[in-house]
Amino acid sequence: MQTHEIRRRFLDHFERAGHTVVPSASLISQDATVLFTIAGMAPFKPYFLGQSTPPYPRATSVQKCVRTGDIDNVGVTTRHNTFFQMAGNFSFGDYFKAGAIEHAWTLLTAPLDEGGFALDPERLWVTVYQSDDEAIRLWQEIAGLPAERIQRRGMDDNFWSMGVPGPCGPCSEIYYDRGPEYGVEGGPVADEDRYLEIWNLVFMQDVRGESDGAGKGDFPILGPLPQQNIDTGLGVERLAFLLQGVDNVYETDLLRPIIATMERLSGVRYGAEHTSDVRFRVIADHARSGTMLIADGVTPGNEGRGYVLRRLIRRAVRAARLLGVTDPVMPTLVAGVRDLMSESYPELTSDFERIERIARTEEQAFLRTIASGSKLFEVARDELRAEETTVLPGSTAFTLHDTQGFPIDLTLEMAAEAGLTVDVGEFERLMQEQKDRARADAKARKGGFADLSVYRGLLDQGVPEFTGYSELQTEGTV
Ligand code: ATP
Ligand code: MG
Ligand code: MG
Ligand code: MG
Repeated sequence: MQTHEIRRRFLDHFERAGHTVVPSASLISQDATVLFTIAGMAPFKPYFLGQSTPPYPRATSVQKCVRTGDIDNVGVTTRHNTFFQMAGNFSFGDYFKAGAIEHAWTLLTAPLDEGGFALDPERLWVTVYQSDDEAIRLWQEIAGLPAERIQRRGMDDNFWSMGVPGPCGPCSEIYYDRGPEYGVEGGPVADEDRYLEIWNLVFMQDVRGESDGAGKGDFPILGPLPQQNIDTGLGVERLAFLLQGVDNVYETDLLRPIIATMERLSGVRYGAEHTSDVRFRVIADHARSGTMLIADGVTPGNEGRGYVLRRLIRRAVRAARLLGVTDPVMPTLVAGVRDLMSESYPELTSDFERIERIARTEEQAFLRTIASGSKLFEVARDELRAEETTVLPGSTAFTLHDTQGFPIDLTLEMAAEAGLTVDVGEFERLMQEQKDRARADAKARKGGFADLSVYRGLLDQGVPEFTGYSELQTEGTV
């Protein structure tokens, strides 16, 4: 079943059940607590909080989401995209736990000709918040789930919030057992790779305060919301991956063709080797996120959303180079994303010229950075040759990084080509020192909102570059 069909079936199911179909909101968060829209509930937050009255008691949507916090998982796990689509149904003081469970179970297990997804009920597992005996009883009564396939989990896993003060509540998540070839037995508590999380049902009933500890669930509950609500989120790409019988979200119908394009451009075959497979998946994912962000009005820049976009594009270009493609790739990739996604997002076609130009210009700027850094690198290389040494000092790698924005993996690659090794230990020590200095600086500002430039050193590092954003880009706790 194609992704567009999954979206349609989902919305049709809930429309038939009296929900108003609401179009996706922009990826640019309307809510200042986060940079991007990270979940389907985000546009409905004022309704949950009772700040405004919803024009309908029930709604359904397929919301565009970006979670930069998941970037290190992209290409590595089977299930994390930076851009993904979250299908959801929402009740504003209307139905509650029983209704949410009933809807989700029916839609997942009903036969195809009745509008369902025909998942094998024997393979479904659920988790509930540790003290939620009511949810356990409802899963048994409504879905006929045996007790062994219902697991309890604590605040960190089964109490959802946006990661910031606001609406929250205990949740119940639905997982699909992919089978023994994908990991160990024992349900989602034992193995989240074998048991794939597909749908989160949040019983949105409380308000949370500021985090007061290191754990995701370490926050105070300030009190109940004015009403008991339902907020659910089904990962469209994840359901597609199960229904299409492929191995991960990157091989589904809306992403795999981008990998095929890169296979053609690089002459490398996807599936032949793990490291290059990860690069293919990173390209497919980031090209799509980048395109969707530009479509929603983000432009590359040095802070905030613009910086996230810049890093996504540069990471995609880097990954392409590592596959051996040094010519520009963004125009081709953006056109590929348009062809795949415009059925659901027609603005990708109507606004294509602008989107393509922004992506192309950013790639060109990065390619110029690479070219100027290469000159500096060549000078260092010739000096080493003259000295008859083969180790590029960590300080040179650091300077390349700091002054030219040269990611370390690029330095490593060029060093290897020149028959050199890099003193990575020294490079990392210098990076750490810079990080410590930035932290000390931020602290000296006495908790004032740190300027993004403080993070730049962290962000530029290459693979783990987005970690510095965790303080800016918070997201769901489960
Ligand atoms: P995970 O534990 O796998 O990181 P999550 O618990 O953080 O997922 P939720 O906040 O519960 O996710 O979001 C609801 C649903 O959205 C998930 O059940 C999943 O199907 C989907 N989803 C979440 N994050 C991603 C992602 N990065 N890429 C694709 N789908 C996602
Ligand atoms: Mg979850
Ligand atoms: Mg989870
Ligand atoms: Mg997550």
